[in-house]
Amino acid sequence: MAEKFDSVVVGAGPAGIAAAYTMAKAGLNVIVLEKGEKPGAKNMFGGVIFRHHTEQIAPEFWKTAPIERHVVEYQYWFLSKDSHLLLSHRNQRFNSKYNAFTVHRAKFDPWFAKLAEDAGATIINRTTADDVIKENGKIVGVKTERGDILGAVTIAADGVNSLLSKHAGLREELPPDAVVLAVKEVIALPKQKIEERFNLGSDEGVAAMLIGWGPGMHAGFMYTNRDTISLGIAINLRDLDKSGQRPNVLMEQFKSHPSIAPLILDGELKEYSAHLIPEGGYDYVSRIHTDGMMVVGDAAMLVNAVNWEGTNLAMTSGIMAGQTVIEAKKANDFSARMLAKYRERLESSFVLRDLRKYREIPKFFSTNPHFFSLYPETMNELAYMWHVVDDETKEAKIKEIQSTLFKRRSRLGLLRDAYRVWRLFS
Ligand SMILES: Cc1cc2nc3c(=O)[nH]c(=O)nc-3n(C[C@H](O)[C@H](O)[C@H](O)COP(=O)(O)OP(=O)(O)OC[C@H]3O[C@@H](n4cnc5c(N)ncnc54)[C@H](O)[C@@H]3O)c2cc1C
Repeated sequence: MAEKFDSVVVGAGPAGIAAAYTMAKAGLNVIVLEKGEKPGAKNMFGGVIFRHHTEQIAPEFWKTAPIERHVVEYQYWFLSKDSHLLLSHRNQRFNSKYNAFTVHRAKFDPWFAKLAEDAGATIINRTTADDVIKENGKIVGVKTERGDILGAVTIAADGVNSLLSKHAGLREELPPDAVVLAVKEVIALPKQKIEERFNLGSDEGVAAMLIGWGPGMHAGFMYTNRDTISLGIAINLRDLDKSGQRPNVLMEQFKSHPSIAPLILDGELKEYSAHLIPEGGYDYVSRIHTDGMMVVGDAAMLVNAVNWEGTNLAMTSGIMAGQTVIEAKKANDFSARMLAKYRERLESSFVLRDLRKYREIPKFFSTNPHFFSLYPETMNELAYMWHVVDDETKEAKIKEIQSTLFKRRSRLGLLRDAYRVWRLFS
């Protein structure tokens, strides 16, 4: 292609499309390259998209977008081998002011990409950007099997493995403790059955995080779609390696947990997939701009593991990168100095402020695995002891509960853990 674009965007996920839409709407000449046969073909997640950030591109998008359910309840499950303790927040306000929607990416991403196309961006599917093209130390485009594609600014929105940022020298190979492997199944059930099992009204949904149970297992997730349930586990790659266990075996164990199995009983497996999530946090957000190039979304490690937010950070970084290209074009300056405004925008937004604030959290939990084993196990045990009715007095029960608790974790250990968690989050 001889034409030189204002911007070449690599990847048609939420980050790339948000960038392309922002630039195309301002009249810039934008091309998006997507390696899948269509946007979303290669993408999988749990998961939810968030109203607030999606509306910055598409106001009231739920009226036309292929969404599944709006979330009215957030659940936190603490699992032991044969029981669970459930903390849950359901709020009717989520019915009048939507907060998040479950979606299937294979349906949502093409719809989202069409917005960028309608704004004037060109999307080329089945095209992989294999490398960046450098001229006098500046990135001036990308190499593809169809030929070189040139642009004043290249935006790498190519997801967690981001070949382009590695080729541009912006990032190293990610260490295993910065990445989580998510294994997910989509299980089909009649719509009515899902609503009965999760106590939901029509179109209402649940987003659940499950913590505990099983060696090497950090967390599980469960999202209700219209007539399917997305269910999966997420394991830090280093922990997975240490545990010597296979993800598919862990997934089977998870599905057969006595608290989970009844929710998916008689369900039909529709899809099985695995994907990496860059959950390392702020310390792994390395250089994200250089002469002629910016990195957005997962490629830039913009995932907030605390609340499992990724799509909103991806969209926001895409919009901010797009705004920076618009300014750069006005100034006819695509240097690293000019593109540094993208980093400044991110640093002063919730994206990097949140990641900076919680930068210790990924490391803290990965070096304190008892939060995912001892605590859920003990919480379940104590709840059991309290609920068993026999001839023992309540006073004796409380003493027994205390002694069980202190046998498992010393008073000092408990105090230290509580203080450290409070410090991490405050
Ligand atoms: C199991 C799971 C559950 C999740 N749950 C949630 C959730 O509930 N809420 C949430 O907000 N986030 C969630 N996330 C995270 C979220 O999916 C990501 O943060 C988000 O998709 C990042 O968007 P992106 O555009 O940066 O990258 P991606 O969505 O990964 O898109 C990258 C795109 O680039 C394309 N591509 C890659 N390389 C090339 C190349 N060389 N040339 C051309 N195209 C290329 C890919 O095909 C893909 O379409 C979850 C992730 C997983 C795996």
